[in-house]
Amino acid sequence: MDKYEQVIELAKRRGFLWNSFELYGGTAGFYDYGPLGCTLKRRIEQIWRDMFVIQEGFMEIETPTVGIESVFVASGHVAGFSDPLCECKVCGEAFRADHLVEKIVPVADALSNEELDRIIRENHVKCPECEGELGETYEFNLMFKTRIGPGAGRQGYMRPETAQGMFVDFLRLARFYREKLPFGATQIGKSYRNEISPRQGVIRLREFTQAEAEIFIDPNDKSHPNIGRFADTVLNLYSGAAQEKGEIERLTLGEALEKGIIAHEFLAYQIGLTNLFLQRVGVSPDMLRFRQHKKDEMAHYAMDCWDAEVSTDRFGWIEVVGIADRTDYDLCSHAAVSRTELSIYREYPKPRMVTRFCVKPDMGKLGPLFKGKAKAVAEALKALSREELEKEDIRINVDSEDIIVPGDAVEFAEETVRVSGENIVPHVVEPSFGIDRIFYTVLEHAFDVEAVPAKEDIGEESRIILRFRNEVSPVQVAVLPLLTREELIGPARKIEARLREKGLLVSYDDSGTIGRRYRRNDEIGTPYSVTVDYETLEDNTVTIRERDSMKQVRTPIEGIEDVLYDLMYRGRDFESAGTAF
Ligand code: AMP
Repeated sequence: MDKYEQVIELAKRRGFLWNSFELYGGTAGFYDYGPLGCTLKRRIEQIWRDMFVIQEGFMEIETPTVGIESVFVASGHVAGFSDPLCECKVCGEAFRADHLVEKIVPVADALSNEELDRIIRENHVKCPECEGELGETYEFNLMFKTRIGPGAGRQGYMRPETAQGMFVDFLRLARFYREKLPFGATQIGKSYRNEISPRQGVIRLREFTQAEAEIFIDPNDKSHPNIGRFADTVLNLYSGAAQEKGEIERLTLGEALEKGIIAHEFLAYQIGLTNLFLQRVGVSPDMLRFRQHKKDEMAHYAMDCWDAEVSTDRFGWIEVVGIADRTDYDLCSHAAVSRTELSIYREYPKPRMVTRFCVKPDMGKLGPLFKGKAKAVAEALKALSREELEKEDIRINVDSEDIIVPGDAVEFAEETVRVSGENIVPHVVEPSFGIDRIFYTVLEHAFDVEAVPAKEDIGEESRIILRFRNEVSPVQVAVLPLLTREELIGPARKIEARLREKGLLVSYDDSGTIGRRYRRNDEIGTPYSVTVDYETLEDNTVTIRERDSMKQVRTPIEGIEDVLYDLMYRGRDFESAGTAF
C-alpha cells in the first residue's frame, strides 16, 4: 500500500471519507464526509473564515449554486471552460487527451486538439483500459447543465466556481462597503465540475468545496498597508524563471517584491496569508511551494498568478490554492453582457479643474425636426468630435437610418469645469482555495506510523497516528474509564459533560482495553486522553496522556476543563499540566 492507500483506508475505516452512493456501487468524483471528516473539514473552513474573513475585515455572502446562462456567458465558462476529451472506439471509456500524452510531451495541457491527436497517432497511444483505438479529440464543457423551471425551462448551470456570484453582486457590495476600496467579499460553498475521468480520488472531484475571496482594489495603487506583516516570511518560490532552471528559490516576500518576481504587494500579501493558513491547518512548510503561472498557462486576462502547491506521496505536487490578479476582466465582461456600468465613483482628494469638450444639442430645434427620435439624435450628437460638428450639415446614424442635422441645432465649446471625482473599475485579487484538496493534504501530512515503545506494548508492532494540529483535531479529548465498572463510569461521564460544556470536542469510550483505546484515539488524531482509574476515587485526580509523546501526567479533576482548554488553544506546556509519573 502506498501512502495514499494507507490514508484513504484509514479515512474510510474511521469515518473521515466514504465513497458516495456506495450502497448503489458508487460513482467516481463524489465523496461523503463522515462524522470525523465533516468535523475536520468544518474546522479547516473555520480557520479560513477566521483568517480571510474576520481578520481581514471582509464579510461572507452566499449566492446560489445554480446559475443562469448569462452569468457564465459573461465569465467565459460557456465558451471556454472545457477539457480535451478522447473516447475509446471499442469500450467507450472517456479520457482527458492531454493526460494520455503527458508522459510523451511535458506541457500537454497547452496543446491544441489537433496536436494532441497527432501525438496520439504518431505514438500509437491506445485506450488504457482495453488497448482499443482512440477516437478524435474534442472539447467537452465541464459545467453540469440543468433546466430552471418546468418544461423547456431556462438553461441553467451548476456553478463551476463560487467567484461569479460575487462579481454579479458587485454594485450591491460596493454600496454596502460605501464605495471605499479595497473591499472584499468571500464565499465558502460547493462548486461543480463534470471532470472527464476523475481517477485521483479526493484530488479531483465533481462536486467540491471552494473558499474564495474577491478583493476589489484600486487599479492604480496595489500597495498593501499591512505588507510588513509578511516582509520577512521566507517561502519556497517557484517563479517562472526558477521553473526554467528547475530550482525552487528560498526568498522572503520582501525580496521577491524588490526583485519584481511577485507583481505587487497586494498579491504578495495574499501569498503570505495563504502560507500562514496552510501551515496553521497542518501542511508541512517544507512540502509547500508557491509556483508562478508561466506566460503560456496564465489566463489571458490575469496579470500575475501563483498556485500554492503541496507535495503528496502519490500525486507529487498538487495545486491547492490559486492566487491571481484578475485585473478588471470579470467586471468588464459582466458590464458588457448585462449592459450595466460596473464601476465605483471615487472622489479626488481635492476637486480638479478639467477642460473638456461639451456638446449641447438644442432640443427646441431638434424636437420639431425629429419628433420621437429627437432624444436619440441628441445622444448621437454628443458622441461626435469637433471636426464632425463644425460641418454645415452634420451626419449621424440613428437606428440604422442616416440623418442630417442642421449645424445650428447644436452648440459646442470647450469648458473648464470643477470635477470632484471619477468612475473607476476596480481590479480584483482572488485567492481561491480547494478545501477538499487541503483536507486530503492535512490528512496525509498528519499521517505517521511509528514503532511502539515497550510501555505501551499491546502486541502490535507499530502504531498509526494522525498528528493533527490541535486546532483542527476532530476529537480534542477522549475520556476513558480504565475499566467498564459503574464506579469509574460515573466520574468519567461527569468529566465528559464538564469538558463539553467548556466547548471542547469530546469522545467517551469504555470498550476494549485501555491500550487499544489509546491506539484508536491516536489513529484519529485525538491530542489528549483523560483516564479515570481507582486512584481517582481516592484523591479526585486523573491522568492526561499526550498523543505524540505518549507521556502522562496526573492532575486534579477540579479545573481540568481549563487545563485542557489551555493545552488546546493557549499553547500550555504539557509538563505543566500535572505531575509526571
Ligand atoms: P481553479 O478555479 O481551477 O483555479 O480552482 C481553484 C481551486 O479549487 C484549486 O486550487 C483546487 O484546489 C480546487 N479544485 C479545482 N478543481 C477541483 C476538483 N475537480 N476537485 C477538487 N478540487 C478542485
